[in-house]
Amino acid sequence: MTDLTRRKFLQATGASLATTSLLGAATSTPPLPSSGNHEGVVISSANGIETVNIAYQLMSEQNMRPVSAAIRGVAVVEADPNDMSVGYGGLPNERGVVQLDSSCMDGPTHNAGSVSCIEDIMHPAQVAELVMDRTDHINLVGQGARQFAIDHGFKAEDLLTERAREIWLKWRAKRTDDDRLWPLGDTVPADPSLADEPRPWGTIHCSALNGAGDVGCCTTTSGLSFKIPGRIGDSPLVGAGMYCDNEIGSAGATGRGEAAIMSCGSMLVVERMRAGDSPEQACLYVLKRVAQQAQRASKWQPMLYKDGAPNFGLTFYAIRKDGTYASASMRGKPGSSKFAVADKNGARLEDCAIAFA
Ligand code: ASP
Repeated sequence: MTDLTRRKFLQATGASLATTSLLGAATSTPPLPSSGNHEGVVISSANGIETVNIAYQLMSEQNMRPVSAAIRGVAVVEADPNDMSVGYGGLPNERGVVQLDSSCMDGPTHNAGSVSCIEDIMHPAQVAELVMDRTDHINLVGQGARQFAIDHGFKAEDLLTERAREIWLKWRAKRTDDDRLWPLGDTVPADPSLADEPRPWGTIHCSALNGAGDVGCCTTTSGLSFKIPGRIGDSPLVGAGMYCDNEIGSAGATGRGEAAIMSCGSMLVVERMRAGDSPEQACLYVLKRVAQQAQRASKWQPMLYKDGAPNFGLTFYAIRKDGTYASASMRGKPGSSKFAVADKNGARLEDCAIAFA
């Protein structure tokens, strides 16, 4: 379209780029959030108390870019055999194979990288970083992602721990034909025998903002436990499991990946902040949107929506460029859901807001 025809088109439709909101209705565009007067902040899911501490220190002491600091921060969880939702020790797919998903995004360059269903590589977030920095692609999957990692010096190793194998065997002994329809939820275990197991699902998301107002983020996971081989969750999908825009802020998701994908959840959180929402308002807005979508979906998958609320767990995390931050979870009692934060006052857990208390 030439400039002239484009202008005519915009006049004819009454639209203008400044006033047409991605969220549907035309709105007047609020001013972009200011960079604020802060020394940076890092947030993550509750399993990342060490992660946020490391990432914050790397940003403030070594001036590392936020995306790389977040990736170095999540590495401790990827290597931790006791976190059965991420990296080494993560619960496997239905065939007993650990397949990992990860993505990262850099605010200043608006570039991203990701790997899906990668096997044998303990630090998929670092492979995602290489995809971002060394290629003009965004996502590498399966065997190609694994080979790319090995070509760049990563070691191939067995990520299935004895404990994860035992849990998988227990699940396999009891599986039924319709287990593929079980919803992912933090209070609805895929198998009651897993109720006592630590975190049979989970992920780590980490968003970081430095003192100069630049953002970056990453998400890394072994995904839904006992998934169908090849299943890709939200974590490696830009806009679903994480997203950032250097004008606005950064966001990410953990929980039922299918819901984060179908709502384009992380991008929507960032766009709500662009439209003027605080981080908490933005996270709650998207959770309510997901709830409306789940109610519609419940016509064919009744377990998704019960007693007036989605029957699955989903949590969003958001930082705005001005240094404000929040997290909100779909369900639970007030205070039952936490997220990790680090700033100049140190690392701590804070309460998530709850959409359906
Ligand atoms: N979002 C992840 C996935 O769907 C799982 C989780 O966060 O618990 O793969």
